[in-house]
Amino acid sequence: MKTYDVVIVGGGIIGGSVAFDLARRDLRVAVLDRQELMREASWAAAGMLSPAPDCPAAIPLVPLGRASLTLYPIFVDAVEDASGLRTGFHTGGAVEVICHGDAERELSTLVALHHGLGLACEPLRMDEARDMEPALGRDARAAVFLPDECSVEPRALTSAVFAAAASAGAALCPGVEVSSLALDGKKCIGVKTSGGETFHAARVVLAAGCWSSQIPEAASYAPTLPVRGQMVALRHCGTPIRHVLRSERGYLVPRGVESPQTIVVGSTIENAGFEKRVTSGGIEKILAAANELVPELAKAEIIETWCGLRPGSPDQLPILGPVDVDGLIFATGHYRNGILLAPVTAKLIGEWIAERRPSLDWEAFSPLRFPRANADRSATASSPL
Ligand SMILES: Cc1cc2nc3c(=O)[nH]c(=O)nc-3n(C[C@H](O)[C@H](O)[C@H](O)COP(=O)(O)OP(=O)(O)OC[C@H]3O[C@@H](n4cnc5c(N)ncnc54)[C@H](O)[C@@H]3O)c2cc1C
Repeated sequence: MKTYDVVIVGGGIIGGSVAFDLARRDLRVAVLDRQELMREASWAAAGMLSPAPDCPAAIPLVPLGRASLTLYPIFVDAVEDASGLRTGFHTGGAVEVICHGDAERELSTLVALHHGLGLACEPLRMDEARDMEPALGRDARAAVFLPDECSVEPRALTSAVFAAAASAGAALCPGVEVSSLALDGKKCIGVKTSGGETFHAARVVLAAGCWSSQIPEAASYAPTLPVRGQMVALRHCGTPIRHVLRSERGYLVPRGVESPQTIVVGSTIENAGFEKRVTSGGIEKILAAANELVPELAKAEIIETWCGLRPGSPDQLPILGPVDVDGLIFATGHYRNGILLAPVTAKLIGEWIAERRPSLDWEAFSPLRFPRANADRSATASSPL
C-alpha cells in the first residue's frame, strides 16, 4: 500500500510548485501524472508574468497576481538553489502598444485602469517607445511602459521546479492516471488509479489543469474547461527586442537579447474542446499580430509551432482551497495566469495544509462557489412565483 501525507494529482507547474513547498515542510508528498510530467499547459506557456487584467472578469485576480509577482524572485532563488537549474527569470518590464481605434482614449483608459489597481504604468511618447524598442512598427500609435512586469521560460522553470521538489524529497510518479478519489463518507483518504491501485493520503491536492473536471467527484467543485492557445517561436536576426512587447492583437516574448534571438509569439484563445491541434488560421493570426508589432519579424524563421490547453473556469478565476470533503484541496483553473500564480498558489496551499491559515484572503477563489451557485439556481427555479 502506498501512503503519503499529501498526494498531488497533476504534474504541471501548479502541482510541481505545491509539491516543492510541501516537501520543504517535511511532508511526504507524491505527484501523480497520467503521462510524462510537464507536457501540458505549463510546457506550452509564453511565460509573461503580468498581473494586469486582460478583461474585466480578471480584475478580482489582480491582488493575487501582484502577490505572486512579489514572491517570484524568492521562489526562483529557492528553485534554482535546490535544483541547480536555471529558470530564465527576467526582470525589466513590458511595453504595451495600441495600434488600433482611438489610441489616445485607449491609452488614458489603460493608464487609469493600471493606476486604479495599484499597478505601475508609465505613458510613453512614441519617440520614447522607439528608443526603448527600435524595431517597433509604424502602426503603433500609443504606448505604455509596465516597469514591474517580468518573464520566465516556462519549460525551464517547470523542469527546475520538479527537480527542486524531488531534491526536497517529493516522489514523482509519471504514467499514473487518477480515475477517482478514494472517499470514506465525507472524507477524502486518497486516490484510485486506472491501473487499479490506491494511493492513500491524509490530503489530496487536485491540480490536474483543464482535466480536473474529468475526475468524477471533483467536477462539481472544479468545472474546468480547456481553452486552446497556439504559439509560434521565431529565430530573429534583426534588431533585438528588449522587452515583452504586447498589442491588442498579440504579444512577443524575447528569450535573451543576443542575436539571433528566439522570440515566442502568441496566442489564440479558442474553445476547441480537448483537441490539441495547430491550425493554419491560428498561426496566420499570430504572425499577423507579430509582424504588425515588429515588421522585421516577417523575415524571421519559424522554428517551432505548438499549442496547449489552458485550464479555464466558468468565471475565469482560479479554483483554490478546501471544500466540504475533508482532506480535499483544489489548485486549478489558473487559465491564462498559471505561470504567474504558481508561487502564491504553492504558498497558500502549503500554509493551509501545514497551518490551516493562509496568509491571504482566498475566499473569492473557493471551489465552493460553484456548488453554492448551483444550489441557489435550483432554489430559485423551484420557488413559487
Ligand atoms: C499558449 C499558452 C500561453 C500561456 N501563457 C502564459 C503566460 O504567459 N503566463 C502565465 O502566467 N500563464 C500562461 N499560460 C497559462 C498557464 O500555462 C496555465 O495556467 C498553467 O500552465 C496551468 O498549470 P497546471 O499545472 O494547472 O496545468 P497543466 O500544466 O495543464 O498540468 C496539468 C497536469 O495534470 C495531468 N493530469 C490531467 N488529468 C490527470 C489524471 N486524471 N491523473 C493524473 N494526471 C492528470 C496532465 O497530464 C498535466 O500534466 C499560457 C497557457 C497557454 C496554453
